[in-house]
Amino acid sequence: MRPVAYSRPRTPEEAIDLLVGAGGAAMPLFGGTTLLDLAKLEVLTPARLVDLRALRPDYRAISRDSDGIISIGGLATMAEVARHPLLRREVPAIVAALDQAASPQLRNMASIAGNVLQRTRCPYYRDISWSRCNRRIPGSGCQALAGIATSHAVLGTSDACMASYPGDLAPVLAALEASAVVMGGGGRRSVPIDGLHRLPGATPQCETVLAPGELILAVRVPHFACLKRSTFVKLRNRAAYEFAEASAMVALDLEGGVVRDARVGLGGVATVPWRSRAAEARLVGMRPVDAAMDAANAAFREAVVRSDTAYKVEMGKRALVAAIRQAVAMDIADD
Ligand SMILES: Cc1cc2nc3c(=O)[nH]c(=O)nc-3n(C[C@H](O)[C@H](O)[C@H](O)COP(=O)(O)OP(=O)(O)OC[C@H]3O[C@@H](n4cnc5c(N)ncnc54)[C@H](O)[C@@H]3O)c2cc1C
Repeated sequence: MRPVAYSRPRTPEEAIDLLVGAGGAAMPLFGGTTLLDLAKLEVLTPARLVDLRALRPDYRAISRDSDGIISIGGLATMAEVARHPLLRREVPAIVAALDQAASPQLRNMASIAGNVLQRTRCPYYRDISWSRCNRRIPGSGCQALAGIATSHAVLGTSDACMASYPGDLAPVLAALEASAVVMGGGGRRSVPIDGLHRLPGATPQCETVLAPGELILAVRVPHFACLKRSTFVKLRNRAAYEFAEASAMVALDLEGGVVRDARVGLGGVATVPWRSRAAEARLVGMRPVDAAMDAANAAFREAVVRSDTAYKVEMGKRALVAAIRQAVAMDIADD
């Protein structure tokens, strides 16, 4: 067993001091549903855990400001966000993604920030008996590229890594142009969710653009007319308590049945939360159901497939077409 120091700071400043002071050897902890799993597996080996739960009262609120921007506390639980009336009314795709993620017990434990920052479920990353994983041991190679790949990515892959990003919420937030409110040793800044996670490239071990010690305190979702007609379709191996093989978020602003504005996010198929601008472009100016297959083809035009991942393209396209149909069928009063 490895000894781990534990702190429960009262303010973000105190938490950041502890994290920065440890020079990368300390990690923030909330629900622990990713972090403690990976620590037990010895994939992550923090010397200190900085528990953020005492900060929660100040960073769990969900509100909308006068510009229509919805702010979601980074330390709100997944369950709190999923049942919040503002989000249920204004951004159904966020609620649908959270309702289909993990299990009720996990959603009660886990935070929005922790959810966005969860790690890949690649079995070669999660099992230290595999000696080749560039994400875990930089420069060691990639067992998935060299052997069997199950549930791996077809978009955003590199010669060093093809591990998929597993979360349901972040692709929705990325496509909706949400940003994370981040605080660290250098002060506060705003980081677009579509850009928070780094493409693996040659350095898959560098997973996000966050500096050591930076905390996500909130997520802000800007107002767009398409938010209300937003939906999320998740395809998985069983109907509950399972990660996505492929998921799609679609948000549409329609005028007379024609798309004025569209957002498309994809999950389970890419190395990072994926916004498909190519699919969005195929939908704008079109009747969405007519353009759905064209948009799906555009979304996966750049896919890099092998015999064992080719099914992901088909599933991703089907998820996207289904989400477009679902979005069109939504009964939105003010369209
Ligand atoms: C069996 C199982 C099934 C699951 N199924 C799904 C699923 O279907 N869909 C899905 O989306 N997810 C799924 N998950 C993942 C789950 O949703 C995440 O583990 C959870 O959301 C992480 O939140 P947490 O608060 O527990 O984070 P933690 O485990 O505490 O932390 C996760 C990471 O985020 C960092 N962190 C935490 N809070 C902050 C912060 N405020 N600022 C900066 N860094 C921070 C930690 O240091 C760590 O690196 C599943 C998990 C399990 C165990």
